Formats: sequence, C-alpha cells, structure tokens
Amino acid sequence: MIYYFIFVSFLFGAIIGSFTNCFVWRLHENETLWDRSYCPKCRKLIAWFDNIPVLSFLFLRGRGRCCGKKISWQYPLVEFSTACLFALSFYLLAKNLLGEASLSDNLYLIADNKFILSLIKDWLIIFALTTIFIYDLRWYLIPDKVALPAALLIFLLNIFLGYNWLTLLICAIIGGGFFLLQFLVSQGKWVGGGDIRLGILLGFATGRYDELILAILLTYFIGSIIGVGLVIFGKKDWSSKVPLGVFLAPALLITLFWGQRIIGWYTGMF
Ligand SMILES: [Zn+2]
Repeated sequence: MIYYFIFVSFLFGAIIGSFTNCFVWRLHENETLWDRSYCPKCRKLIAWFDNIPVLSFLFLRGRGRCCGKKISWQYPLVEFSTACLFALSFYLLAKNLLGEASLSDNLYLIADNKFILSLIKDWLIIFALTTIFIYDLRWYLIPDKVALPAALLIFLLNIFLGYNWLTLLICAIIGGGFFLLQFLVSQGKWVGGGDIRLGILLGFATGRYDELILAILLTYFIGSIIGVGLVIFGKKDWSSKVPLGVFLAPALLITLFWGQRIIGWYTGMF
C-alpha cells in the first residue's frame, strides 16, 4: 500500500515538473501562467497528448510534432527528477514518522496533520529549488518572484510545524547575512543580490543551526567539485561567473533529506 502512495507522489511530481518547465520559461518571458502550452520554437499550441511528462518526449523522440525542431533535454530531465524527488521525500518522511514500525501496518499515520504539512513543505521546497536551479543555470539570476514568496511560505509552514520563530528568524539572518557579507566584501563580484535572498530562504528552510551550517558547507563542497571539474574539462576558467543557486539547491535538498544522519555520522566520529 505504501508503494501505491509513493507511486502517486511520483506521478504528481512528474506533473509538477512539467509545470516547472513551463513556469520557468514564462517567468523569464513575463508571460501569464494560464495560457495553453505552446512550442517555444514555433509558438504553435501543443495538444494534450503531446504534453504528457517524459512519455511524450520519448514517443516523439525528442522532436516537436509541430515543427520537427529538437525539444530541449531540460523538459524530460526536470519532469523525471521532480517525480523522483517527490517520491523520495514522501518515502523518507513516512519512514521518519514511523520509525521502526512497519510502513504498511501503520499507514493511517500519514493522514496526520504534521505529516501532510511536512510533505507540502518538502514539495514546495523541491518546486522552488528546481525553478531557481534552472533559472540560475540558464540566466545567472535568482528569480525573486519565486525565492521571496517561497521563503515566506516555508517560514509559515515551519511555524505551523512547531519550529521556534526566533530560531527561524536568526537562521534567516545568518543565511542572508553570510551572503550579504560576501556581497559587500567583493562589491557584488562573488555573489549577486539574489543570492542574499536565497540565503534567507535557506535559513527558513533549514530552521536549525546545525543543518544551516551543513547546507552552506555542502553548497561550497558541491560548487568546488563541479568548478574544478569544469576547469579540468576546459569548459570554464577560474574567473567564470558562478551560479550559486545551482549548487545551493542540491545542497539544501541533501540537508533536508539526510541532514540529521550526516550530522550524526560526523559528530559520531569524535
Ligand atoms: Zn514547434
């Protein structure tokens, strides 16, 4: 039975991933969200059966039915990874809630308010981070229209979930302040103004000092690995601009999913 819910989370994630692709595009073009989907290459409307997450891409072999132009790999990739992340967060939350108890025997527990709020929070964070990830990767900008409302919603959800509001605010000040400091020292060369707002979101989303520090460390860890890789393969040189959101998004998700385990493992070493 639990697998049924994980599967439903996966399908829902695929739909949200599909929405994310179109949302990022329309956010950048400043378009309304409520128009029908159209082909970004030739601007013809897309029929519903050509707009099914992942499957349509495979069925059409990566080319639009309208104009035969290549469909970006971004589309199926985002749909598939959002689907996996939604399913994973459902699974991990259920496991966390049930502890050692069997998942299938205690399924009623997932009807619990706290579980549902936690799930909404995780899914919101996944959606916001995916949007920020694509946007920052493509255009080297953090979209405030996503980061700020997401930060506020995450703050409210965490209040409902029983987090201490003062701790949340201090985390946001540390997260935002950390990037503000770099912004001031480098006069906006290392990080952009959007990264400061992203730091505030990071503070609200972690809501704990240990996880906040872990997320920041992971951001730089992932960033340096990818950075060194890109330099080695000659794609970038050391002075290239860095899209911080691209590293921060996976760092925050890892912290959200496995933060306490990583911290427990680390402190257990001493
Ligand atoms: Zn087309």
